[in-house]
Amino acid sequence: MTYALVIHGGAGAQPGTDYTVQMRHMRELLNLGEDRLRAGDSALDVVTEMVEQLELSGLYVAGKGSAPNTDGQFELDASIMDGSTRRAGAVSAIENMLSPIRAARLVLDDGKHVMMTGRGARDFALANGLDSVDDPDGYYTEHEGHGSGAENADHGTVGAVALDMSGHLAAATSTGGIFNKRPGRVGDTPLIGIGTWADDQVAISCTGHGEPFIRACAAYDIAAQMRYGGIAMNSAAHATLAKVKALGGDGGVIAIDRTGQVIMPYNSDGMKRAAIATNMTKVVRVFEPEP
Ligand code: ASP
Repeated sequence: MTYALVIHGGAGAQPGTDYTVQMRHMRELLNLGEDRLRAGDSALDVVTEMVEQLELSGLYVAGKGSAPNTDGQFELDASIMDGSTRRAGAVSAIENMLSPIRAARLVLDDGKHVMMTGRGARDFALANGLDSVDDPDGYYTEHEGHGSGAENADHGTVGAVALDMSGHLAAATSTGGIFNKRPGRVGDTPLIGIGTWADDQVAISCTGHGEPFIRACAAYDIAAQMRYGGIAMNSAAHATLAKVKALGGDGGVIAIDRTGQVIMPYNSDGMKRAAIATNMTKVVRVFEPEP
């Protein structure tokens, strides 16, 4: 039986910064995710948990590690997609929820809408029992100390893609967005087909400068090249990242295809990332190049 799992902690990695703690954390998470996939858990549940743990750690610019907008508020974005059913859920500019990806998952499970924003998204999450952050100034402090402070980085995100032993793919992404963003700014992360995509052939989570990713229609651009052009996944991902670059941004993607092949290309300075698959030993990397 084949399974595969890739996680990322953002493509805003800065040369010269020590990411030992993040690498250890990603390794632990992969162990947890691999155990779940081997036990037969669904890709959808595993990517939800991977992203939730990345959010709660405070080690990345998502969840607890998020940085405030120019009004000092923490408006977060997240999305999730189930490849086998194409069900999807997303929240944007959601404030003071412990786990934005859990809120996105609620939207997916509920099924009435795909995307909810701002106050309505928060009210929906609260009404369905999710935990809120009651002391935002006390909670969202980790971005100061995890190597992604505003002085040396300008964005960050977390994500996960998985193939489970039933052959199903799923993808999830969550972010604090870019530093010093305007109130109400929404990036690529909560946009299905841009920051996150999963169908029956590929699962994709993106990270990087959100605006060029939106203008490149990034995640679906990769899937469409594969589906309509017969382009290999890695070539498609590199082509899309080149479009993002041409539009003035950079970043990276993690992706898994239905055969369990894993890719993690990026064209920024580095991307925190880790992968495991049935026939592949675990890798945890930040700056090493990818093919
Ligand atoms: N894509 C995210 C955004 O623009 C940031 C990131 O991935 O680092 O909101």
